[in-house]
Amino acid sequence: MKRRSFLRGAAVTGVAGAAAAASTFPTPAIAQGIRELKMVTTWPKRFPGLGTAAEDLAVRVEAMSEGKLKIKVFAAGELVPPFESFDAVSSGTADMSHSAAYYWQGKSKAFNFFTAVPFGLTGTEHAGWIYAGGGQELWDELAAGFNLKPFLRGSTGVQMGGWFRKEINSLEDMKGLKIRMPGLGGEVLRRIGAAAVNLPGGEIFPALQSGAIDATEWVGPWNDLAFGFYKVAKNYYWPGFHEPGTSGEVLFNLDVWKSLPSDQQAMLDAVIQAQAWKEYADFNTQNANSLDVLVKKHGVQLKKFPDELMAEIGRVSGQVVKEAAAEDAMTQKVYDSFIAYRTKSIGWAKIADQAFWNARSLPFKYG
Ligand code: CA
Repeated sequence: MKRRSFLRGAAVTGVAGAAAAASTFPTPAIAQGIRELKMVTTWPKRFPGLGTAAEDLAVRVEAMSEGKLKIKVFAAGELVPPFESFDAVSSGTADMSHSAAYYWQGKSKAFNFFTAVPFGLTGTEHAGWIYAGGGQELWDELAAGFNLKPFLRGSTGVQMGGWFRKEINSLEDMKGLKIRMPGLGGEVLRRIGAAAVNLPGGEIFPALQSGAIDATEWVGPWNDLAFGFYKVAKNYYWPGFHEPGTSGEVLFNLDVWKSLPSDQQAMLDAVIQAQAWKEYADFNTQNANSLDVLVKKHGVQLKKFPDELMAEIGRVSGQVVKEAAAEDAMTQKVYDSFIAYRTKSIGWAKIADQAFWNARSLPFKYG
Protein backbone atom coordinates (compact mmCIF):
# COMPACT_ATOMS: atom_id res chain seq x y z
CA MET A 1 0.00 0.00 0.00
CA LYS A 2 2.69 2.43 0.96
CA ARG A 3 4.52 1.85 -2.29
CA ARG A 4 1.40 2.53 -4.28
CA SER A 5 0.85 5.83 -2.54
CA PHE A 6 4.52 6.65 -3.06
CA LEU A 7 4.23 5.99 -6.77
CA ARG A 8 0.96 7.84 -7.06
CA GLY A 9 2.56 10.77 -5.26
CA ALA A 10 5.38 10.81 -7.78
CA ALA A 11 3.21 10.52 -10.83
CA VAL A 12 0.26 12.69 -9.92
CA THR A 13 1.00 15.20 -7.22
CA GLY A 14 4.73 15.65 -7.84
CA VAL A 15 5.56 15.74 -4.12
CA ALA A 16 9.14 17.04 -3.98
CA GLY A 17 10.80 14.11 -2.18
CA ALA A 18 8.95 11.43 -4.11
CA ALA A 19 9.56 13.18 -7.41
CA ALA A 20 13.27 13.52 -6.66
CA ALA A 21 13.51 9.82 -5.81
CA ALA A 22 11.39 8.82 -8.78
CA SER A 23 13.53 10.83 -11.18
CA THR A 24 16.43 8.45 -10.57
CA PHE A 25 14.80 5.62 -12.49
CA PRO A 26 13.25 5.56 -15.92
CA THR A 27 9.50 5.79 -16.43
CA PRO A 28 9.03 2.17 -17.63
CA ALA A 29 10.60 0.96 -14.36
CA ILE A 30 8.13 3.02 -12.33
CA ALA A 31 5.27 1.63 -14.37
CA GLN A 32 6.42 -1.89 -13.47
CA GLY A 33 6.70 -0.98 -9.77
CA ILE A 34 10.47 -1.41 -9.74
CA ARG A 35 12.50 0.65 -7.33
CA GLU A 36 16.28 1.02 -7.27
CA LEU A 37 18.21 2.10 -4.17
CA LYS A 38 21.73 3.50 -4.41
CA MET A 39 24.00 1.90 -1.81
CA VAL A 40 27.40 3.44 -1.12
CA THR A 41 30.08 1.50 0.77
CA THR A 42 33.36 2.17 2.53
CA TRP A 43 34.99 -0.88 0.88
CA PRO A 44 37.07 -1.38 -2.24
CA LYS A 45 35.15 -3.10 -5.05
CA ARG A 46 34.51 -6.84 -4.38
CA PHE A 47 36.74 -6.68 -1.28
CA PRO A 48 36.56 -10.14 0.41
CA GLY A 49 33.87 -10.41 3.06
CA LEU A 50 32.94 -6.71 3.02
CA GLY A 51 32.52 -5.56 -0.57
CA THR A 52 31.31 -9.03 -1.50
CA ALA A 53 28.75 -8.98 1.36
CA ALA A 54 27.39 -5.69 0.02
CA GLU A 55 26.96 -7.21 -3.44
CA ASP A 56 25.45 -10.43 -2.04
CA LEU A 57 22.88 -8.32 -0.19
CA ALA A 58 21.87 -6.68 -3.46
CA VAL A 59 21.54 -10.05 -5.21
CA ARG A 60 19.40 -11.55 -2.40
CA VAL A 61 17.10 -8.53 -2.11
CA GLU A 62 16.47 -8.50 -5.85
CA ALA A 63 15.69 -12.24 -5.83
CA MET A 64 13.44 -12.06 -2.76
CA SER A 65 11.49 -9.12 -4.14
CA GLU A 66 11.14 -10.84 -7.53
CA GLY A 67 13.03 -7.95 -9.09
CA LYS A 68 10.84 -5.20 -7.64
CA LEU A 69 13.55 -3.86 -5.34
CA LYS A 70 17.05 -3.41 -6.71
CA ILE A 71 20.15 -2.20 -4.90
CA LYS A 72 22.90 -0.61 -6.98
CA VAL A 73 26.20 -1.01 -5.11
CA PHE A 74 28.88 1.69 -5.30
CA ALA A 75 32.37 0.76 -4.04
CA ALA A 76 34.38 3.30 -2.07
CA GLY A 77 34.94 6.41 -4.19
CA GLU A 78 32.58 5.45 -7.03
CA LEU A 79 29.79 7.81 -5.93
CA VAL A 80 31.33 9.49 -2.88
CA PRO A 81 34.65 9.08 -0.99
CA PRO A 82 34.40 6.26 1.61
CA PHE A 83 34.30 8.47 4.69
CA GLU A 84 31.57 10.67 3.15
CA SER A 85 29.07 7.83 2.87
CA PHE A 86 27.35 8.73 6.15
CA ASP A 87 26.65 12.30 5.00
CA ALA A 88 25.61 11.03 1.57
CA VAL A 89 22.91 8.79 3.07
CA SER A 90 21.88 11.32 5.70
CA SER A 91 21.34 13.99 3.03
CA GLY A 92 19.74 11.64 0.49
CA THR A 93 22.55 11.75 -2.10
CA ALA A 94 22.56 7.96 -1.59
CA ASP A 95 19.67 5.85 -0.27
CA MET A 96 21.69 3.48 1.90
CA SER A 97 25.21 2.49 2.90
CA HIS A 98 27.25 -0.57 3.89
CA SER A 99 29.88 0.45 6.38
CA ALA A 100 30.90 0.51 10.07
CA ALA A 101 29.47 2.89 12.66
CA TYR A 102 32.73 3.80 14.39
CA TYR A 103 33.86 5.72 11.31
CA TRP A 104 31.25 8.31 12.36
CA GLN A 105 32.55 9.02 15.85
CA GLY A 106 33.14 12.61 14.72
CA LYS A 107 29.34 12.94 14.56
CA SER A 108 28.83 11.38 18.00
CA LYS A 109 31.12 9.25 20.14
CA ALA A 110 28.07 7.01 20.71
CA PHE A 111 28.54 5.50 17.22
CA ASN A 112 31.67 3.66 18.43
CA PHE A 113 29.56 1.35 20.58
CA PHE A 114 27.69 0.07 17.53
CA THR A 115 30.86 -1.26 15.90
CA ALA A 116 33.33 -2.08 18.66
CA VAL A 117 35.11 -0.40 21.55
CA PRO A 118 38.45 -1.50 23.03
CA PHE A 119 37.99 -4.41 25.45
CA GLY A 120 34.22 -4.29 24.78
CA LEU A 121 32.04 -7.11 23.42
CA THR A 122 32.72 -10.09 21.14
CA GLY A 123 30.69 -10.42 17.94
CA THR A 124 28.25 -12.85 19.56
CA GLU A 125 27.83 -10.61 22.59
CA HIS A 126 27.37 -7.58 20.35
CA ALA A 127 24.57 -9.33 18.45
CA GLY A 128 23.00 -10.17 21.82
CA TRP A 129 23.09 -6.53 22.90
CA ILE A 130 21.68 -5.27 19.58
CA TYR A 131 18.99 -7.91 18.99
CA ALA A 132 17.95 -8.76 22.53
CA GLY A 133 19.56 -6.36 24.99
CA GLY A 134 18.14 -2.95 24.02
CA GLY A 135 20.98 -1.95 21.67
CA GLN A 136 18.84 -1.61 18.52
CA GLU A 137 16.41 0.81 20.19
CA LEU A 138 19.29 3.05 21.28
CA TRP A 139 20.92 2.84 17.85
CA ASP A 140 17.60 3.80 16.21
CA GLU A 141 17.31 6.81 18.52
CA LEU A 142 20.90 7.92 17.86
CA ALA A 143 20.71 7.45 14.09
CA ALA A 144 17.29 9.10 13.75
CA GLY A 145 18.99 12.33 14.84
CA PHE A 146 20.91 12.11 11.55
CA ASN A 147 17.89 11.04 9.46
CA LEU A 148 19.11 7.43 9.33
CA LYS A 149 17.78 3.94 10.10
CA PRO A 150 20.53 1.48 11.11
CA PHE A 151 20.83 -2.32 10.93
CA LEU A 152 23.47 -4.71 12.25
CA ARG A 153 25.11 -6.23 9.20
CA GLY A 154 27.51 -8.85 10.56
CA SER A 155 30.76 -9.22 12.44
CA THR A 156 34.36 -9.83 11.50
CA GLY A 157 34.82 -11.65 14.84
CA VAL A 158 37.84 -10.86 16.99
CA GLN A 159 40.21 -8.78 14.92
CA MET A 160 44.00 -9.01 14.90
CA GLY A 161 46.19 -6.54 16.79
CA GLY A 162 47.95 -5.55 13.61
CA TRP A 163 51.11 -5.51 11.50
CA PHE A 164 54.28 -4.09 12.99
CA ARG A 165 57.68 -3.69 11.34
CA LYS A 166 59.45 -4.08 14.67
CA GLU A 167 58.76 -6.29 17.67
CA ILE A 168 56.62 -5.06 20.53
CA ASN A 169 57.93 -6.30 23.88
CA SER A 170 56.79 -3.53 26.19
CA LEU A 171 54.77 -0.35 26.49
CA GLU A 172 57.96 1.58 25.64
CA ASP A 173 58.07 -0.06 22.19
CA MET A 174 54.66 1.44 21.32
CA LYS A 175 55.72 5.00 22.09
CA GLY A 176 56.11 7.24 19.07
CA LEU A 177 54.87 4.64 16.56
CA LYS A 178 52.54 5.91 13.84
CA ILE A 179 49.75 3.33 13.76
CA ARG A 180 46.57 3.16 11.67
CA MET A 181 43.73 2.41 14.08
CA PRO A 182 40.17 3.76 13.89
CA GLY A 183 37.61 4.39 16.62
CA LEU A 184 38.35 4.65 20.32
CA GLY A 185 41.25 2.20 19.90
CA GLY A 186 43.10 5.06 18.21
CA GLU A 187 42.54 7.25 21.27
CA VAL A 188 43.82 4.47 23.56
CA LEU A 189 47.04 4.34 21.50
CA ARG A 190 47.46 8.10 21.77
CA ARG A 191 47.12 7.87 25.57
CA ILE A 192 49.99 5.36 25.75
CA GLY A 193 52.21 7.55 23.58
CA ALA A 194 51.69 6.20 20.05
CA ALA A 195 50.48 8.39 17.17
CA ALA A 196 47.25 6.89 15.86
CA VAL A 197 45.71 7.83 12.53
CA ASN A 198 42.69 6.57 10.64
CA LEU A 199 42.79 5.79 6.92
CA PRO A 200 40.19 4.15 4.65
CA GLY A 201 41.11 0.53 3.84
CA GLY A 202 42.33 1.26 0.32
CA GLU A 203 44.91 3.81 1.53
CA ILE A 204 46.59 1.67 4.18
CA PHE A 205 49.03 -0.43 2.12
CA PRO A 206 50.71 2.52 0.33
CA ALA A 207 51.05 4.33 3.67
CA LEU A 208 52.68 1.30 5.30
CA GLN A 209 54.92 0.70 2.29
CA SER A 210 56.14 4.29 2.10
CA GLY A 211 56.80 4.48 5.84
CA ALA A 212 54.14 7.16 6.37
CA ILE A 213 52.88 4.78 9.07
CA ASP A 214 54.94 2.27 11.09
CA ALA A 215 52.17 -0.20 11.78
CA THR A 216 48.55 -0.86 11.00
CA GLU A 217 45.58 -2.86 12.03
CA TRP A 218 42.90 -3.69 9.47
CA VAL A 219 40.68 -6.68 10.16
CA GLY A 220 42.00 -10.23 10.39
CA PRO A 221 43.89 -12.80 8.31
CA TRP A 222 41.32 -12.99 5.47
CA ASN A 223 41.15 -9.25 4.74
CA ASP A 224 44.75 -8.56 5.72
CA LEU A 225 46.03 -11.20 3.30
CA ALA A 226 44.03 -9.53 0.51
CA PHE A 227 45.75 -6.19 1.12
CA GLY A 228 49.19 -7.85 1.27
CA PHE A 229 50.50 -6.21 4.44
CA TYR A 230 52.84 -9.20 4.94
CA LYS A 231 54.95 -7.85 2.08
CA VAL A 232 56.16 -4.90 4.17
CA ALA A 233 55.71 -5.94 7.84
CA LYS A 234 56.25 -9.48 9.11
CA ASN A 235 55.20 -9.21 12.78
CA TYR A 236 51.50 -9.98 13.09
CA TYR A 237 50.25 -9.32 16.61
CA TRP A 238 47.26 -10.71 18.47
CA PRO A 239 44.70 -10.24 19.92
CA GLY A 240 42.84 -7.23 18.52
CA PHE A 241 42.07 -5.69 21.91
CA HIS A 242 40.69 -2.61 20.18
CA GLU A 243 38.07 -4.49 18.14
CA PRO A 244 37.00 -7.69 19.91
CA GLY A 245 33.92 -8.17 17.73
CA THR A 246 33.76 -5.59 14.97
CA SER A 247 30.20 -5.30 13.80
CA GLY A 248 29.10 -3.69 10.56
CA GLU A 249 26.09 -1.64 9.63
CA VAL A 250 23.63 -1.04 6.85
CA LEU A 251 22.21 2.47 7.02
CA PHE A 252 19.10 3.70 5.23
CA ASN A 253 18.11 7.29 4.69
CA LEU A 254 15.20 7.50 7.15
CA ASP A 255 12.81 9.07 4.59
CA VAL A 256 13.68 6.34 2.09
CA TRP A 257 13.18 3.66 4.76
CA LYS A 258 9.78 5.07 5.73
CA SER A 259 8.74 5.24 2.06
CA LEU A 260 9.24 1.48 1.61
CA PRO A 261 6.12 -0.70 1.85
CA SER A 262 5.88 -2.87 4.96
CA ASP A 263 6.58 -6.11 3.04
CA GLN A 264 9.85 -4.70 1.68
CA GLN A 265 10.82 -3.37 5.12
CA ALA A 266 10.22 -6.80 6.66
CA MET A 267 12.16 -8.49 3.85
CA LEU A 268 15.13 -6.13 4.23
CA ASP A 269 15.15 -6.60 8.01
CA ALA A 270 15.17 -10.40 7.58
CA VAL A 271 17.73 -10.57 4.78
CA ILE A 272 20.15 -8.20 6.51
CA GLN A 273 19.88 -10.34 9.67
CA ALA A 274 20.50 -13.49 7.63
CA GLN A 275 23.48 -11.81 5.95
CA ALA A 276 24.85 -10.86 9.37
CA TRP A 277 25.00 -14.49 10.46
CA LYS A 278 26.53 -15.53 7.13
CA GLU A 279 29.14 -12.79 7.27
CA TYR A 280 30.19 -13.83 10.79
CA ALA A 281 30.47 -17.46 9.62
CA ASP A 282 32.50 -16.43 6.56
CA PHE A 283 34.93 -14.39 8.64
CA ASN A 284 35.52 -17.12 11.22
CA THR A 285 36.08 -19.71 8.49
CA GLN A 286 38.19 -17.65 6.10
CA ASN A 287 40.28 -16.11 8.89
CA ALA A 288 41.35 -19.59 9.98
CA ASN A 289 42.12 -20.57 6.36
CA SER A 290 44.02 -17.37 5.59
CA LEU A 291 46.06 -17.52 8.79
CA ASP A 292 47.58 -20.78 7.50
CA VAL A 293 48.47 -19.12 4.19
CA LEU A 294 50.08 -16.12 5.92
CA VAL A 295 52.21 -18.25 8.23
CA LYS A 296 53.08 -21.19 5.97
CA LYS A 297 53.34 -19.50 2.58
CA HIS A 298 54.41 -15.96 3.44
CA GLY A 299 56.52 -16.54 6.56
CA VAL A 300 54.51 -14.21 8.76
CA GLN A 301 55.61 -14.15 12.40
CA LEU A 302 52.58 -14.55 14.69
CA LYS A 303 53.14 -12.77 17.97
CA LYS A 304 51.11 -12.25 21.13
CA PHE A 305 51.02 -8.84 22.74
CA PRO A 306 52.71 -9.12 26.18
CA ASP A 307 50.20 -9.57 29.05
CA GLU A 308 51.58 -6.52 30.88
CA LEU A 309 50.95 -4.37 27.82
CA MET A 310 47.41 -5.80 27.45
CA ALA A 311 46.61 -5.13 31.10
CA GLU A 312 47.73 -1.50 30.82
CA ILE A 313 45.89 -1.03 27.53
CA GLY A 314 42.82 -2.61 29.12
CA ARG A 315 42.94 -0.13 31.99
CA VAL A 316 43.40 2.84 29.64
CA SER A 317 40.62 1.51 27.39
CA GLY A 318 38.16 1.55 30.28
CA GLN A 319 39.05 5.19 30.95
CA VAL A 320 38.80 6.23 27.31
CA VAL A 321 35.41 4.56 26.85
CA LYS A 322 34.05 6.09 30.05
CA GLU A 323 35.29 9.57 29.11
CA ALA A 324 33.75 9.28 25.64
CA ALA A 325 30.42 8.51 27.31
CA ALA A 326 30.54 11.75 29.27
CA GLU A 327 30.64 13.86 26.05
CA ASP A 328 26.86 14.02 25.65
CA ALA A 329 23.68 12.59 27.16
CA MET A 330 22.99 10.18 24.28
CA THR A 331 26.48 8.66 24.43
CA GLN A 332 26.11 8.27 28.19
CA LYS A 333 22.81 6.46 27.70
CA VAL A 334 24.36 4.11 25.15
CA TYR A 335 27.40 3.54 27.39
CA ASP A 336 25.23 2.67 30.42
CA SER A 337 23.31 0.05 28.43
CA PHE A 338 26.50 -1.34 26.83
CA ILE A 339 28.37 -1.61 30.15
CA ALA A 340 25.42 -3.28 31.89
CA TYR A 341 25.26 -5.84 29.05
CA ARG A 342 29.04 -6.37 29.12
CA THR A 343 29.06 -6.96 32.89
CA LYS A 344 26.29 -9.56 32.70
CA SER A 345 27.88 -11.24 29.70
CA ILE A 346 31.25 -11.54 31.42
CA GLY A 347 29.53 -13.34 34.32
CA TRP A 348 27.81 -15.79 31.97
CA ALA A 349 30.78 -16.31 29.63
CA LYS A 350 33.01 -17.28 32.57
CA ILE A 351 31.01 -20.45 33.09
CA ALA A 352 29.93 -20.86 29.44
CA ASP A 353 32.02 -19.95 26.34
CA GLN A 354 35.18 -18.98 28.18
CA ALA A 355 35.01 -22.00 30.50
CA PHE A 356 34.48 -24.33 27.57
CA TRP A 357 37.33 -22.85 25.51
CA ASN A 358 39.64 -23.25 28.51
CA ALA A 359 38.50 -26.85 28.95
CA ARG A 360 38.95 -27.56 25.22
CA SER A 361 42.50 -26.21 25.41
CA LEU A 362 43.56 -28.72 28.09
CA PRO A 363 46.25 -31.14 26.86
CA PHE A 364 44.22 -34.24 26.03
CA LYS A 365 43.96 -36.34 22.89
CA TYR A 366 40.69 -35.95 21.01
CA GLY A 367 39.87 -38.53 18.35
CA1 CA B 1 39.92 -2.94 12.31
